[in-house]
Amino acid sequence: MLKGIPASQGIAVGKVRKIEPPVLRIIRTTADPDTELQRFRKASGETVNDIEKIRRLASDRLSPKELAIFEMHLLLIRDASFVNGVEDIIRNEHINAEAAVQEVSGRMIHEFETMDDTYFQERAADVKDVTFRLLCHLADRALPDVKLIDEPVIIVAKDLSPSDTGSLDRRFVLGFATELGGRTSHTAIMARSMEIPALVGVKDLMNTVKDGDQVILDAVTGTLIADPSAEQSAAYSVYADAWRGERESLKVLKQEESVTRDGHHVEICGNIGSPDDTGSIIANGADGIGLFRSEFLYMRNETGFPDENTQYEAYRSVLERMEDRRVVIRTLDIGGDKQLAYHSFEREMNPFLGARAMRFCLAHEDVLRTQFRALIRASAHGKLAVLFPMIATTTEFRRAKEIWLEEREKLKQAEIPMADSTEIGVMIEIPAAAVIADQLAEEADFFSIGTNDLIQYVMAADRTNDKVAYLYEPFNPAVLRMIRMTIEGAHKHGRRCAMCGEMASDELAIPVLLGLGLDEFSMSAGSVLQARKQIRSLDYSETVPLARKVMELSSQEEVIACIKEYMLK
Ligand code: PEP
Ligand code: MG
Repeated sequence: MLKGIPASQGIAVGKVRKIEPPVLRIIRTTADPDTELQRFRKASGETVNDIEKIRRLASDRLSPKELAIFEMHLLLIRDASFVNGVEDIIRNEHINAEAAVQEVSGRMIHEFETMDDTYFQERAADVKDVTFRLLCHLADRALPDVKLIDEPVIIVAKDLSPSDTGSLDRRFVLGFATELGGRTSHTAIMARSMEIPALVGVKDLMNTVKDGDQVILDAVTGTLIADPSAEQSAAYSVYADAWRGERESLKVLKQEESVTRDGHHVEICGNIGSPDDTGSIIANGADGIGLFRSEFLYMRNETGFPDENTQYEAYRSVLERMEDRRVVIRTLDIGGDKQLAYHSFEREMNPFLGARAMRFCLAHEDVLRTQFRALIRASAHGKLAVLFPMIATTTEFRRAKEIWLEEREKLKQAEIPMADSTEIGVMIEIPAAAVIADQLAEEADFFSIGTNDLIQYVMAADRTNDKVAYLYEPFNPAVLRMIRMTIEGAHKHGRRCAMCGEMASDELAIPVLLGLGLDEFSMSAGSVLQARKQIRSLDYSETVPLARKVMELSSQEEVIACIKEYMLK
């Protein structure tokens, strides 16, 4: 039995599909040209089959533009100059197919990378992708690709990137387990919003579990059982039914208000990563969407930044489906652990402290302006609020807002329909912003506290780094004081303060946050009803002194003990 961190609750039983990209060592050798030509042609054929299969499987999930990437890959692998180039080298130089492929693709990559046009520069990534797939086939090690999955499986991997996670097909992927990762990594966050059971940080996973093994993935208690006995399987099936039954019973709260026993109202909203997640937000009766992480639209696109219309359609569909419920869309928060296939970020020593999110957008104004135009147009279709991520200074906020107003004015002149006004909020996830919350609140319409980042910056402990996970303390007094400062700063100017980091759904945090006056709790869809149940069982008048008491304690351990004591009463 292996232990891990439940990143997305659920229980799954099934066959393992191990995703382990092979490590290739290409050695240039002299070889018989006829044999090498045959090997090259066979591997090319297999590569074409892979790409066609991915295209077929993904056709109903991807936009025409996204599907075009696979056309591009097919063009590349069949491209006469590529094929002839490799075959000529094999014939003339008598070297193995691997070395010939590497030589030709290396030249193509260099040519693309040195072109002036960004479109062509981005094609270098396509050549790298196709070549790696081809080299894997030459090594008789088909590239295990999550996009190729077409039967029910549980994925087991060292790690999955957020964009791999975003491309998982919920029809086939019953769940996943990874050796690396933590609860607030973006892979975990994606799994929660897609409602795929997931276990992360499972030590020794890759050494213990084999491809094809039968496993029980219990992402409720955090265990993975390989090759379960008949008794274990039977016991799990009873337990899984009970767990599902309990979750089902929460559905009676779908239409109920998010209100404490003594009549204090809050909002419990949902976090989404894609328009597809809106269905589960509605199914779980959330009061609105408190965070739409728009960057996942950018990460799913494989060919380039999504254009204005693609974004407009995505935002509009969410706003329309949510009808009169408020939808907070966060502008592009890229960088750190969130990368784009088509854009190479400059190498940075500390990417989490680097040019990510709004910093990146202010340095790439065209990207920001395109998103703003899409959002302004979408505002005509529902109750939109816009949230700026990673704001550290009032200057950044003012500049971003100025750009917003410029784009708004241009669209107004062109008589494009839009809402009369749109709330603009600030994410409080950098300590500097928490400290000047009262000043930011004079200019921003609302706040949303991003504790996933705020904790890592307050504690100087990278949220994706296992070695400092012990310092990543949500209940550390320093973090709690930052939260209190933010709420007080917002309320001083009559602004609403939300929280959209993972802490907002933590059963132990909820009473304290309530007592501190938090107005809105935003979380993955699967947590909404449980949080509503808890809020409805609490007395606001009791949580205020609890919060006050907790604020006087000097360690996370003491804080947790104090909250637990209160909850047992
Ligand atoms: C956060 O930092 O708390 C947050 C909600 O944003 P993300 O997890 O996407 O960084
Ligand atoms: Mg964040």
